[in-house]
Amino acid sequence: MRLGIIGGGQLARMLALAARPLGVDCVVVEPAPSPPAAAVAEVIAAPFDDRAALATLARTCDVVTVELEAVPVAALEWLERSVPVRPGPAVIAAAQDRLAEKLLLRRLGIPTAPFDDEVHGLPALVKTRRGGFDGRGNRLVRTPEELASARFELPEPIVEGLVPFEREVSVLAARSVTGEVRCWPVVENRHEHGILQCTMAPAPWLTPSLQAEAEDLIGRVLTDTAYVGVLALELFEVGGHLVANELAPRVHNSGHWSIEGSVTSQFEQHVRAVCGWPLGDTAVVGPSAMLNMVGEEADAGAVLALPGTHLHVYGKEPRPARKIGHVTVTAANAEELQHRIHATAPLVPFVV
Ligand code: AMP
Repeated sequence: MRLGIIGGGQLARMLALAARPLGVDCVVVEPAPSPPAAAVAEVIAAPFDDRAALATLARTCDVVTVELEAVPVAALEWLERSVPVRPGPAVIAAAQDRLAEKLLLRRLGIPTAPFDDEVHGLPALVKTRRGGFDGRGNRLVRTPEELASARFELPEPIVEGLVPFEREVSVLAARSVTGEVRCWPVVENRHEHGILQCTMAPAPWLTPSLQAEAEDLIGRVLTDTAYVGVLALELFEVGGHLVANELAPRVHNSGHWSIEGSVTSQFEQHVRAVCGWPLGDTAVVGPSAMLNMVGEEADAGAVLALPGTHLHVYGKEPRPARKIGHVTVTAANAEELQHRIHATAPLVPFVV
């Protein structure tokens, strides 16, 4: 089996690492030189919409997937005429555009922040409809003047009411070609400067009712879009209920813990799903936490000297605010996990 991946970053690298034991070889399309996936996959060095590169992919692969949503939809639609593209271009198109995404969520009865005409009062957030990530392209506005200038200055702005959330969580799930759905436990995500710093898996104090609510919400998206692969839904927890923020039609940073923390990692699960195979068990093997390494490399020896640490280095040039690796901390119970996080966190740089 040969899997084509649009994008050659760390997500493609971890997909290819998970694909190898299943006998799946990966080939990535990536314009940037020496991408992280190059160590473990074949690389076609070309822009994402390069027709010759896509034709090669279609001819030599059994199925094609994406590791990022910022892929020209026309390219995916063109590919789809000759090779299965999973997940499909329509759901990727919706996830590229905050307005289309909100309209999809609303149609499925999934609560979201108020937006545009529904926003009464300030402060509010002005976001760009397309292209923002890690909080870039978002602006908090406190006065009518700030609102007016943000609307003028940001391309294709969408105005969002502030959600008074207690915490940020996410849920990841996969759907197979036959419609089987498997969901991981809801996780808690802590951000610094708009960048994910830490994921706690499962989310502390996760109740069965919150888990059921998350599974219901993500299940609606998976079923309605006939989704195939891993999907992430970023959520706010407010008053014990969930409000959707964003969809990511791919493996997601808040699922990296699953490599060591779950019976089946999000990467293996995505490979299983898009290759048309049955899904794996999403149970946790114990509590875990994922710490992103941002901007500077950790001292590998120091991290690995601690109990329960699992180091992942992506092979990227360190630059401020750039995710260059992560460390997952595993433990037998919540108390041990806390001790291990306290010991490990100071060794994992977060330079923005
Ligand atoms: P986003 O670019 O939509 O992922 O937003 C980046 C971060 O901004 C989120 O992780 C939240 O911390 C915060 N945020 C986004 N939208 C809202 C909102 N409507 N209300 C409150 N905080 C928000």
